[in-house]
Amino acid sequence: MPIPPRVLTVAGSDSGGGAGIQADLKTMLALGVHGMSVLTAVTAQNSRGVQGAWQLPADAVRAQFRSVVDDIGVQAVKTGMLASAELVETVAELLTGLDAPVVVDPVGISKHGDPLLAASALESLRTKLLPVATVATPNLDEVAWLTGVRVATEADLRRAADAVLSYGPAWALVKGGHLDGAEAVDLLTDGTEEHWLRAPRHDNRHTHGTGCTLASAVAAELAKGSGVPEAVTAAKDYVTGAIAAGFALGGGIGPVDHGW
Ligand code: PLP
Repeated sequence: MPIPPRVLTVAGSDSGGGAGIQADLKTMLALGVHGMSVLTAVTAQNSRGVQGAWQLPADAVRAQFRSVVDDIGVQAVKTGMLASAELVETVAELLTGLDAPVVVDPVGISKHGDPLLAASALESLRTKLLPVATVATPNLDEVAWLTGVRVATEADLRRAADAVLSYGPAWALVKGGHLDGAEAVDLLTDGTEEHWLRAPRHDNRHTHGTGCTLASAVAAELAKGSGVPEAVTAAKDYVTGAIAAGFALGGGIGPVDHGW
């Protein structure tokens, strides 16, 4: 048996299994890579929202990372919920100099409006974590929070992406999924190349875990050897299928489906 590419997610647990570490590992399984996890926080969560969140000590994050990287090795890393400035800085330090692409999903708040990162972590995210990112994948709320740029139409996406790039990631993928329109439009750019990604919008409210799934899919495709534009294109296809197949669970917003 050939050894599959190994991909690490550094993220929080969603007890409901729709987002976070659970979505990341399901995505990685579906895309044929070996998924590994460094847990940063534990949430008590379901389809209705986040009922509680507890961050792990920085030492526990460091220890998990060293266990995985020093023995098993990684071909790509994805970061998600990092909870606090201390953990953002710890993770940025661990990733500095790592010889593998890093996908940063700058998770701020959940779809239900629950905070997943302390407001005091904004500066660390901008100045420590984004500079080590190969690809940063903010949605429009995260772009507004990170850069102050408010995207109202597709024409604003370029300015938003430039503002993200000013913090140092090699590529910015600005996800315009929350804009109105028949298509979900994202812009991927490194400041030179521009790739506009379009997919039909699926009228499905069960989209919990969308951002985690997309970022993990990008990391999985990078680990398999794709360049960034190819990895993002394949990841967008994957997440579009997962959204189309999203299903009702509990009394609120159900998860995207990894088994379609
Ligand atoms: N819970 C955890 C642990 C997450 O990492 C995330 C997103 O990154 C969410 C919840 C939010 O997911 P969504 O906004 O898709 O509901």
